Amino acid sequence: MRHLAFTALCAALAASPATPPAADSPSRPGSPTIAVLCNRLIDGASDRASGRSAVLITGDRIVGVGKPDIVPKGTEVIDLGDVTLLPGFIDLHSHPLIGSDSYQVDHLKMSSAYKALKGLHAVQENLKYGWTTLRIAGDADVYYAHLDVRRAIDEGMFVGPRLTGAGHYISVTGGGGDINFAAPEQHLIADGLIADGVEEIRKVVRTEIKFGSDWIKLLVTGAFMSTGDSPGDVHFTPEEIRAAVEEAGRRRVPVMAHAHAAEGVKQAILAGVRTIEHGTFVDDEGIKLMVERGVYFVPTISVGTWYIENGSNVPEMQKMVDLSRKTQADYVKRVGKAIHAGVKIGLGTDFGGYNAEHNAREFAELVRAGMTPMQAIQAGTRVGSEALGWQDRVGTIAPGKLADLVAVAGDPLADIGALERVSFVMLGGKVIPRGR
Ligand SMILES: [Zn+2]
Repeated sequence: MRHLAFTALCAALAASPATPPAADSPSRPGSPTIAVLCNRLIDGASDRASGRSAVLITGDRIVGVGKPDIVPKGTEVIDLGDVTLLPGFIDLHSHPLIGSDSYQVDHLKMSSAYKALKGLHAVQENLKYGWTTLRIAGDADVYYAHLDVRRAIDEGMFVGPRLTGAGHYISVTGGGGDINFAAPEQHLIADGLIADGVEEIRKVVRTEIKFGSDWIKLLVTGAFMSTGDSPGDVHFTPEEIRAAVEEAGRRRVPVMAHAHAAEGVKQAILAGVRTIEHGTFVDDEGIKLMVERGVYFVPTISVGTWYIENGSNVPEMQKMVDLSRKTQADYVKRVGKAIHAGVKIGLGTDFGGYNAEHNAREFAELVRAGMTPMQAIQAGTRVGSEALGWQDRVGTIAPGKLADLVAVAGDPLADIGALERVSFVMLGGKVIPRGR
């Protein structure tokens, strides 16, 4: 009896706005329609902004978009005035459980429960700054804490952004997901999942999916932040990458590949991954392959800029600071080449350890690399939704989509920095309070 009551409660909570329902699910019956008015609207699909506009919302869905005269008499109106209204932002590369520069030491010190609480706080902070959807690029907890954060949000216990992604970053022994600073006699559990050889790869991919990962994340090359490895080295063999893609594909789970070295980028594309993360040293051939195969590229520029500008007083992060200072200018040029070649580029921040307020800087970085402000906005909205396969529910302001909206003061087409000044957030038709 108690079990039945609990099941019924879960079913009721699961219908909360944080759960991405299928595109054809109806709005909640009986919900009143509200109208959000703004002076400028960027819908994520059109290449032009509209002037004074209204968005009609019933329940968690957008039901109409147009001039203010579409608002029926007697409708509750939220008039935001001189703002630009945009689709909720989508971050394709986030690590909410990572909370400081000493993230691998933190991993050893913090329980899974504590990481879950910190991660919940982090994703709620992201939401306040307009990030209504996050794809987690693997995270630093053996027990999948962030997938439980997602579950708690989806069940309606907490308000938080829509979450999707990988349980862990999968790494070779001695790679970016391993603890490489401990003495050989210490038997530590790494922050990533360690797999060597095709059979172990198959096993960890199956384990990830068993515990709820809806993406697989591979550290194909070394990393910038971890101790004891180099982003210029390719770690997995082509056979191992192919095995991961094949195994994930059996369950219709896509693969994201962390790849800095040019050779690693190409091996991952040829193996069939859906997205390339970072791509710091991508070459012309890699760019051509991404275009040919329709692979999404998720550069993460602003995290490097953050460390270049702010440095770090943590010794293990000096590698990140030094490498970013050495490589960042050429990296921005390579991203520019990819933009001009027509690669599908989604926005990713590599969030982890700094204030969520900094995340929207990535839009400005994409503009610095060569995008128009409108292209950068689309990278962080519509293109992100397409990379996720969620274009039926988020990423644009259009009838039938979930009512995830962000407003910023000013005009981001004139000043892309306006996206760092979010004044209003709506998630699934509900206004998110801005205060602490
Ligand atoms: Zn990352």
